Amino acid sequence: MKLIRYRHDDGEGIGLVQGDKAAALASADLRELMLDGVVAEQLGIVHPLDQCTILPPLIPGKILAIGRNYAEHARELNNEVPAEPLVFAVMPSAVIGDGNVIEWEAALTSQVDWEGELAVIIGRTARRVSHAEALDFVFGYTIANDVSARDLQTRDKQWTRAKGLDTFCPLGPAVVTADEIPDPQNLRIVTTVDGVEKQNGSTADMIFSVSFLIAHLSRAFTLNPGDVILTGTPSGVGKAMNPPEFLGEGSVVSVEIEVIGKLTNSCRML
Ligand code: ZN
Repeated sequence: MKLIRYRHDDGEGIGLVQGDKAAALASADLRELMLDGVVAEQLGIVHPLDQCTILPPLIPGKILAIGRNYAEHARELNNEVPAEPLVFAVMPSAVIGDGNVIEWEAALTSQVDWEGELAVIIGRTARRVSHAEALDFVFGYTIANDVSARDLQTRDKQWTRAKGLDTFCPLGPAVVTADEIPDPQNLRIVTTVDGVEKQNGSTADMIFSVSFLIAHLSRAFTLNPGDVILTGTPSGVGKAMNPPEFLGEGSVVSVEIEVIGKLTNSCRML
């Protein structure tokens, strides 16, 4: 199933995407839908997608992100390929949806970069789960842009501000349930800025697979339904370009992952 969260004249809801329409489901909240397990109860109301405002699929409880999970991306920024996953957290308050605007204060950062990533949505409580069973805890997959202020990332030494500024975690538009992606390690991921391709990678090239990451993270944190894991970005970020390229006023950045869809946001400097 492909699911979206939307706002329409008659309120907010979760819709089952069917072509260019969304069939309203009984649960209006993705987490509630996971816990109920009543995934497909339909209300008999269908909205054309172009009459809906697409909302982020959910506001995660926590967002755990992985740095340098593609060898070529680690190398393009002159970093070592890590021996174990490099884990950091992103503020849930940074989440915006497809079509929302990424914005920042020009006085705060002048090096705003893109990172297209596969996002994993946890569907069941996971604590110390094994690599072999880890994918059973996945509700579905969506798309993330791990927007990064490179100057703050360097200056702050850690990444709370660089990756956690308001609007810096676009997520969505749709969630594709795990049954439709039995192998998350074989998905093409392409990022464009103003229509020009910047990143073109495959989740096959992750150093640590989705199942490895879930097992690893679940040893440190209880993963709850609605938590999200950002799995790292392939090579082709702006900082690695010669000369470096960054997002600016009016830039339009899209991240497309096959089977899942395309996440597009424009940029505004304050
Ligand atoms: Zn990232």
